[in-house]
Amino acid sequence: MKSRRICLIVPCFDEADSLPEFYRRVCGLADRFAENSWEFLFVNDGSRDETPHLLDDLAAQDPRVKVLHLACNRGHQIALMAGIDFADADVLVTIDADLQDPPEVVADMLSRIEQGFEVVHAQRGRRSGETFFKLTTARLFYLLMKCFGGGDIIPDCGDFRAFVPAVQRTIRSFRTPHVFLRGLFAQAGFRQCVIIYDRDPRFAGETKYPFLKMATLALDATLGFTAFPIRAISCVSLLLWGISLVYLVRSLVVHFVFHGTVQGWTSLICLLFFFTGLILFCMAII
Ligand code: UDP
Ligand code: MG
Repeated sequence: MKSRRICLIVPCFDEADSLPEFYRRVCGLADRFAENSWEFLFVNDGSRDETPHLLDDLAAQDPRVKVLHLACNRGHQIALMAGIDFADADVLVTIDADLQDPPEVVADMLSRIEQGFEVVHAQRGRRSGETFFKLTTARLFYLLMKCFGGGDIIPDCGDFRAFVPAVQRTIRSFRTPHVFLRGLFAQAGFRQCVIIYDRDPRFAGETKYPFLKMATLALDATLGFTAFPIRAISCVSLLLWGISLVYLVRSLVVHFVFHGTVQGWTSLICLLFFFTGLILFCMAII
């Protein structure tokens, strides 16, 4: 295997209890593949525990460790994006700090990159230590994405993946405050492949993805990467137009046959339905 510069991008939010073990495991990986040069780029996503100090101490001792401190907690996806913006290497790997993504799997990723793949996604096979709620909501999420037309998104792939600088440049060029990296990678193209790994339980602490953050991610995914919003708006606009036409016919019949309308009211209601439908329709096609 030829020598490469490898950068692990590690978002961290209150991960002080996992970090020493994470660092030990990635050092083991780097020792195994010592022909490469390694960088561990930690992105401290506004942690409130000892994470910032721990990371600064590691950086002071080990020149392979680099730390980005975000000014406040912006969420996993933005933290990863900050790392992707900053990293400079031949192979970039995004990996969680809680050891649910075993660092040893990076070895398989590197051999796939060596074979010429430009993006290697790690798909979750067995998932130990996850709650029933987490597994069910994850299944529901991928099912909804499929139904809504987000078919390019690979099911059960989180943000554990390796990629090359050309892909990094493409991902950087998508500037959006509502980052959903799984969608961006699915859209980016390039030679992609999937490897399957067993996801371990969290090494320490609790998930940093409570329900509200998961729901926000799902909303960003649905709005940004599926045809669902456009289809929903089109259906509502057609429905309103349909209602306005039915109402128009009914009102004309009432007016001419039964002479029973309040003056001005019919035209207002019909115009209201008609233009609301039109505005929504324009939104859908823009
Ligand atoms: N994380 C982050 N900012 C956040 C939430 C999470 O940087 O606001 C990091 C977290 O420290 C971990 C990774 O993103 O390294 C995945 O988070 P977590 O393990 O809590 O998610 P889960 O595996 O439960 O989906
Ligand atoms: Mg986790």
